[in-house]
Amino acid sequence: MTTEHLETRAFEADVARLLHLMVHSVYSTPDVFLRELVSNAADACEKLRQSALTEPALLGDDPALKITINVDPDAKRLVIEDNGIGMSREELIENLGTMARSGTEKFRQALEEKDAGKALIGQFGVGFYSAFMVAHEVVVDSHAADHESAWRWRSDGSGEFQIEPSDDAPRRGTRVTLMLRDEHTDYADEAAVERLIKHHSAHVPVPIVVRKAGEETARELVDGTALWARPRSEITEEEYTEFYRFTAGAFDTPALTLHTRAEGRQEYTTLLFVPEMAPFDLFDPDRKGRMKLYVRRIFITDDAPLLPGYLRFARGLVDSEDLPLNLSREMLQTNPMLAQIRSATTKRLLTELRKLADNKPETYAKVWEAFGAVIKEGLYEDAERRDELFAITRFATTKAPEGGRTLAEYIADMKENQTAIYYVVGEDPERVAASPHLEGFAARDVEVLLLSDPVDAFWVRTALGYEGKPFKSVTQGSADLDAIAKKHNDHQVPEEAKASDVATLSALVKQTIADRVSDVRASSRLATSAACLVAPDGGYDRQMEKIVSRHGKGGFGVKPILELNPGHPLIRTLAARAANGGSADKIADAAWLLLGSAEILDGETPSDPAAFNARLLSVMGQIFTGPGPSDHADHISVGDGSGADA
Ligand code: ADP
Ligand code: MG
Repeated sequence: MTTEHLETRAFEADVARLLHLMVHSVYSTPDVFLRELVSNAADACEKLRQSALTEPALLGDDPALKITINVDPDAKRLVIEDNGIGMSREELIENLGTMARSGTEKFRQALEEKDAGKALIGQFGVGFYSAFMVAHEVVVDSHAADHESAWRWRSDGSGEFQIEPSDDAPRRGTRVTLMLRDEHTDYADEAAVERLIKHHSAHVPVPIVVRKAGEETARELVDGTALWARPRSEITEEEYTEFYRFTAGAFDTPALTLHTRAEGRQEYTTLLFVPEMAPFDLFDPDRKGRMKLYVRRIFITDDAPLLPGYLRFARGLVDSEDLPLNLSREMLQTNPMLAQIRSATTKRLLTELRKLADNKPETYAKVWEAFGAVIKEGLYEDAERRDELFAITRFATTKAPEGGRTLAEYIADMKENQTAIYYVVGEDPERVAASPHLEGFAARDVEVLLLSDPVDAFWVRTALGYEGKPFKSVTQGSADLDAIAKKHNDHQVPEEAKASDVATLSALVKQTIADRVSDVRASSRLATSAACLVAPDGGYDRQMEKIVSRHGKGGFGVKPILELNPGHPLIRTLAARAANGGSADKIADAAWLLLGSAEILDGETPSDPAAFNARLLSVMGQIFTGPGPSDHADHISVGDGSGADA
């Protein structure tokens, strides 16, 4: 259903916002627009080449794919033309009128903030719309390879675009005409264009020629040979970097470049890069990789499963000499040759990452910072490679809260009688580090892994351990801490309540809150807090349960154990009272308040906030509105006894 007349349409709201940003951006290097347009033209040529594999007629009498750049300084015009796949009317509307790009959600969010939007332009490029950084008007004439009619799309970058039949389109493909703003007429200068193309687009796998208005002949700037087909020794680091930036649409320098040629059972070339910076769509739910598959230099797809999801941050390509050209979608999933390439590529990349971690720890630290949370998905998904993955995994721990610890270092530093690798898990790194459950570990100088990425809750449940040491949560079961000696220089060895008194208190407390906990007992994992909640022996970590159930994978609903700190002045007082058979209702108040405060420490709301609040106010009332002599002990003990606020 097409309209034969000019039609004006509004841009999708997000596009309009993005365009506004482009037009008003004071971004210092608008150069990138040319790279974006050239890369679209090259993509269009590669798509046509690929479609022609099954439908050779599409190439017609014009099989030599190329990109032509026309410069016209007098008319202040720059034209980028390709004889690729072209766009139909519907495609022009969809592709150039909406935000039909991947990672859209993050992108939308970032757009909300103007400055973030600017940073996005700087970091990721924004495709076609970047043309409006330099042009006051953009005209796109396109003739789709399998269509009769050609269409013209035109916009001045304000809220609307026009679409109408085109009588001046290429015979096949797309012509993008930029009417340059006065301050950007430089881009119609042949030498400037040549410099930019050689710099940014030298390895486009499609030849690029430039022609000046009024001249007959075009000059070749790029010959279109594939960079990856050349021997490694002939390629400079700059060439690799530019190629990476071009193919990945990135602006950073790759942290790792891997260019190898496999020979033997199968022959293929791999060229892949690990970026230094995370792209905005890293956590896209579809978790697609960005690796391109070529067969004998012909682009096949950017959707082939060449790496597992947890290595989706790698960018690059595989070019196979042996795969058939007509790989169907199903074959991509099931072809055994491709599966072998995937497995070898995965292994190789993990080896290279490990070498990078060993030899260039600072560079690796950046990779980990950007992609660690993704790599950790592999700990959960790829049990077979878990040990390889552990070797490149870095942790924040109580000894190194800023991160960078390895499990090997952890193991080497384990204390005498320590049998497990301890961790604490939660969603907020700061809160995780401040968890009361860590106190007893700190007193014994036992290192604890601080796990605060969402994926941590998943892998740590399934990983069996590392070098024979199991992973164990600090909030799980009895922590076996008694076997480990406390630090000698712990000058404040607290006076502890008598064990039998604590047992009596525990029994009374348990009676009161029996519906909510499975047990109440003395703790060795606390030092300064009065009480905390832990999972029962053999039960799952409590924070983890919360995270898991939030991710819809089912919680377990087991009741926690309330642990009391016999060294805390309040517990000492309460234990002594309990042993003397004193004030049962005060102990009941204390039981509920201790439970509520332990819930708060876990980042929860007391399960009956109103009752908790009423009880708290009533106890405060007793303190501040003139206590009876027998209550005196309570308000001295309410502090944490550390004297830290002195
Ligand atoms: P991206 O290239 O990342 O998809 P762009 O904004 O650069 O995003 O382009 C949007 C879409 O417009 C492309 O995906 C493509 O479908 C279409 N497109 C842009 N330029 C061309 C072209 N020269 N030939 C054919 N299609 C094009
Ligand atoms: Mg593009």
